Amino acid sequence: MVVGDIATGTEVLVIGGGPGGYAAAIRGGQLGLDVTLVEMDAYGGTCLNEGCIPSKALIHGTGLAHEAGHAEALGIHADPAVDMEALVGWKDGVVDRLTGGVEKLCKANGVNLVPGRAEFADESTARVAHGGDGQGSESIEFETAVVATGSRPIELPGLEFDGRRILDSGDALALESVPDSLLVVGAGYIGMELATVYAKLGADVTVLEMLEDVLPPYGEEVSRVVRERATDLGVEFHFGEAAQGWEDGGEEAIVTTETGDGETREHVAERVLVAVGREPVTDTVGLDAIGLEPTDDGVLETDHQARTDLDTVFAVGDVAGEPMLAHKAYAEGHVAAEVIAGEPAALDYQAVPAAVFCPSARTRASSASSPTPTRSSSSAPRSSGRRPPSSSPRSGWPSRWAPSWRTSPRRSTPTRRYRRRSARPRRTPAGRRSIR
Ligand SMILES: Cc1cc2nc3c(=O)[nH]c(=O)nc-3n(C[C@H](O)[C@H](O)[C@H](O)COP(=O)(O)OP(=O)(O)OC[C@H]3O[C@@H](n4cnc5c(N)ncnc54)[C@H](O)[C@@H]3O)c2cc1C
Repeated sequence: MVVGDIATGTEVLVIGGGPGGYAAAIRGGQLGLDVTLVEMDAYGGTCLNEGCIPSKALIHGTGLAHEAGHAEALGIHADPAVDMEALVGWKDGVVDRLTGGVEKLCKANGVNLVPGRAEFADESTARVAHGGDGQGSESIEFETAVVATGSRPIELPGLEFDGRRILDSGDALALESVPDSLLVVGAGYIGMELATVYAKLGADVTVLEMLEDVLPPYGEEVSRVVRERATDLGVEFHFGEAAQGWEDGGEEAIVTTETGDGETREHVAERVLVAVGREPVTDTVGLDAIGLEPTDDGVLETDHQARTDLDTVFAVGDVAGEPMLAHKAYAEGHVAAEVIAGEPAALDYQAVPAAVFCPSARTRASSASSPTPTRSSSSAPRSSGRRPPSSSPRSGWPSRWAPSWRTSPRRSTPTRRYRRRSARPRRTPAGRRSIR
C-alpha cells in the first residue's frame, strides 16, 4: 500500500460500471454479498452514455420527424424542422435520467460506489486512483473480483479519431449540428444506425464498406432490407473499398480508399464516422499483476460461469468477447454474481438476440444523385502498418482483406474522387434543418 492510501476491504470488487458491471454489482447486493463497484468515468458505461441509449434516443427522435414529413399517403402534410441542439439536449436528458437510475439502484441494493480507476496490485488487492489533484487513492482488498471494463471503438490506422473531422460513434452521437455530408466507414450495425439517423436529418451520407454488403454477420435477408431502406433515404454505398487515410481539404476531409483490385479512390465529406468495430478494454486494470493475459484479440477468456483462468477473478460483458451487446453483458454479470454467491448458475449462448434499429418500411424513392467523380489526383494511400482490425476474427471480416491495410506501394493508376452532390436545400431560416 502506498503511504497516504486509505485501505478498505470488500467481498466482491466489481471493476467497471457498465451493464456487465452494474448488473453483477446489483445482483450481488441482492444476494447479500458485500459489493464495491469502481467506475472511472460515468455509471452506465458505454451503453447508457454513448451507446445503446443515446443512439436509440436519436433514432426515435429523427424517426418521428421523418415519419411526420413523409405521411402524405395518410393525409398528413407536414414539413418538420429539427432543432439539432434541442434534440441532442433531450437525448442527454434521457441519458442523465438513466445513469442516475443506475446509481440509485446500486445504492438501494447496498452496493458501495467508488469513483476512480481500479488496477490490480496482486490477486487480492486493487488500487483505486481517484484522479484529479489531491483526490488521493485507495487500496481495496477483495475476495473475488469481476472485471467489467467494456470496450472502445477500434481506430483505423491513418484515420485516428480527432473528434472534429474523424469521429467515433460517441462523437457522432453528440454532434450539435448536422453535417452537410457524412462519410461512414464500416457498415456494421453501429455504422448503419448512425448513417440512417443522419440521412433522415438531411445529411448526404455515404457508406464505405470493404466487404460486399451491409451488416455482414446478419445474413442476406437482413442486409438487403437495411441496404434498400437506407438507399431510399439517399444513403450511397461503396462496397469493396478499404479506407486507408485522410487529408485535410479545408472545410472537408478527403479520405483515401483502396479497392480489392488495388484501385485508389478518394471520398470527400465534412465529417467522417469510423465505425469498424470495438475492442475489449484490458489495459486499464493491471492484468499483469494477477498474471492474466488477454487473447490476441484482446479478449479475457472465461468459462460457462464467467470465470477467468483465476478462480477468484470473473470477466463479464464486452471485455469477455463477442457478441458485444448490453443484454449479453447483463446476463454474464448476473451469472458471475450468482456463482460468487454459491448458486448453480451458468451461461448458455445458444440463442442471443440481436436487433438493428434501422428503418424496415419503405418511405419514398431516393432523391440522391449517383456518385460523381469530380476530378482526379494521384495521391497514394497511407497506412501506419499497424495490425489491421479487419484481420481479427472478432470483427467477422475475412483476413483476405488484411494485406490492403498494410503500407501499399504507390500506384500509377489515377485516383477517382467522389463528392456527394446535394440534391435538396436543407436549412430553414431559423437554422433548423428541414428534413423533407
Ligand atoms: C453506438 C452504440 C450503440 C449500441 N447499441 C446497442 C444496442 O442497441 N443494444 C445492445 O445490446 N448493445 C448496444 N451497444 C453495445 C453496448 O453498449 C455494450 O455491449 C455494453 O455497453 C457493454 O457493457 P460492458 O459493461 O461490458 O462495458 P461498458 O458499457 O463499456 O462499460 C465499461 C465501464 O468500465 C469502466 N472502466 C474501464 N476500465 C476501468 C477501470 N480500470 N476502473 C474503473 N472503471 C473502468 C469504463 O469507464 C466503462 O464505464 C451499442 C454500442 C455502441 C457504441
